[in-house]
Amino acid sequence: MLPLRITPAAVTPEAPSVDDDLAVVARERCTWCGWAERQRYPRPRQDAPWPSPDWLYCERCGFWNSADPLGGDSLVTNGSYVYESNYGRRLRHKLRTADYRFRVLEAMTPVGSFLDIGSSYGSMLLAGQQRGWRTMGVDTSAEVVAFARQHGLDAHEGSLTSVPAADHTFDVVHARHVIEHDVNTYRALREMQRVGKPGALVMIETPDAASRPHTGDPARQAGQGFHWTAWHRVLFTPEVLAGFCARLGWQQVTEPERVAGPPHFWLWRTNKLWGERTRRASRVVTWWRLPAEVTDD
Ligand SMILES: [Zn+2]
Repeated sequence: MLPLRITPAAVTPEAPSVDDDLAVVARERCTWCGWAERQRYPRPRQDAPWPSPDWLYCERCGFWNSADPLGGDSLVTNGSYVYESNYGRRLRHKLRTADYRFRVLEAMTPVGSFLDIGSSYGSMLLAGQQRGWRTMGVDTSAEVVAFARQHGLDAHEGSLTSVPAADHTFDVVHARHVIEHDVNTYRALREMQRVGKPGALVMIETPDAASRPHTGDPARQAGQGFHWTAWHRVLFTPEVLAGFCARLGWQQVTEPERVAGPPHFWLWRTNKLWGERTRRASRVVTWWRLPAEVTDD
């Protein structure tokens, strides 16, 4: 089963510049392609302690922006909100899949320093530590950061666009289910690039708005499933995500087809790759190599 290879969406003449404030752009037009004729869909499912803003769907490129892009009620600004279920606290139970994620990573890059953005209770930090990585985590929730620190992990309050770390610190930057929480995609990607070493590896996992479970009637999609919750601010197709990354000069990295591991690892990974290749999985895992040269961003 070959890993997915993504063709970046083409840059349109109307596309915002990489320096624009996309929270402002989002109110007028699509933050990826710049199209102004977007369709508005309510999120009928209300699963947060605050009202869910409507979605604005761009039929031209398939990108979704929240009609309230700043959303004073988002995860990014509401740091005291604990978004994860109690299961996340059971670090030891989450270690197995976290360990599997590191096996895939180690097939692409040597063991070194690792930043987890959206580190939650710290399962990736702990699993990485046990495999010899120097790990640091960042999360918007003060409660999960305190929990991770009580367990001896190096976790800090911060966000996608504000990581408390010096420039060019990490060999790997890992952001699993976080990039969809901030409308300022270029700002978020550039923050990852700032704290990553030149040539560092970046992992971004996010809901796949073009996957089979998430295509079809947009009005129905807007209120469907866990991936359409109140605290998501944008939803990418893999092609649009690749377009954002390509504009910053990031190179897509393809996972190696074969990675060694125990039988359960093989089952876990085959299932994951099959889901992505067939677009049956509702999320997509993408890997990127940062530019080797430091720019003046
Ligand atoms: Zn668009």
